[in-house]
Amino acid sequence: MDSDALPLSRGTLDRDARRRSDGIEAILAGPRVRVVRVRRGRVSGDETGLELGSEIAEGAEAAYLGRDEDGWSYVADLGTGLPDPDPGRALDDPQGPPSGISVRDVGWQLEPLAAGVATAALAMANWHAAHRFCPRCGAPSTLALAGWERQCSREGSAQYPRTDAAVIMSIVDDDDRLLLGHGVAWPATQFSVPAGFVEPGESLESAVRREVLEETAIEVGEVTYQGSQPWPFPASLMLGFRGRAVTTEPRPDGVEVTEAMFVSREELTTLITDGTIRLPRPTSIAHYLISDWYGRDWPVTPWISA
Ligand SMILES: [Zn+2]
Repeated sequence: MDSDALPLSRGTLDRDARRRSDGIEAILAGPRVRVVRVRRGRVSGDETGLELGSEIAEGAEAAYLGRDEDGWSYVADLGTGLPDPDPGRALDDPQGPPSGISVRDVGWQLEPLAAGVATAALAMANWHAAHRFCPRCGAPSTLALAGWERQCSREGSAQYPRTDAAVIMSIVDDDDRLLLGHGVAWPATQFSVPAGFVEPGESLESAVRREVLEETAIEVGEVTYQGSQPWPFPASLMLGFRGRAVTTEPRPDGVEVTEAMFVSREELTTLITDGTIRLPRPTSIAHYLISDWYGRDWPVTPWISA
């Protein structure tokens, strides 16, 4: 699998970390500034590209994302910091439908630069929204280092933007069949490969084996790293693996996973073609792990789920 081709891993922005110490005001006052706006989990623009301004909204916080090869500086307008009770609220909400793009839906359609800017902007907006108070003493914190730090207003301690490691894996048995499961909260026909968060004190390989065992009772032997992509929904980094199953009778846990099965390529083709199952949308690393196992001769359309 070509990790650099993963939709949200294609960003070409120079993160230009040295300039962060100038502060966001100085960066915004400089030449060639492009501002991307994040509101309610959506990024300004549509599937053809980002909508870029030159200023941030009054009272909004902002983060410097980096610069492109033409010298444009990209800044994310993160909003005012007021909590958004429900970023996915219904379209009939009195505030109106959310504007802008869902990176999850259209990230794979964006140009590499735009995909990288949108992904970083959303990731930063999500982190800042969730870290407005100091985890040591509970006092409000303020943005510093052009968005790459928050400082406690009482004691000055610093917090830095983090990301949550999650593993996702194509598990293949000795007959080269792929393990698929159905998550309890998913639409009825949706299937994917196993995934889960890495726990504190755990290696990535252990997390791969533990998650598959917990969800499907399948034991995994050899584990091989495949690639990664950021997944800011709200704060994950997806680390893709391939694992070798050493048992062949999946038993779903009934809690997180309600169905699990090994499928051959022929069986999967039939299940997709007759509409029995749908597979993950093209922005996800799951899509690429499954495609990589399946091989090259795969029609695009059946992969795209609503
Ligand atoms: Zn504090």
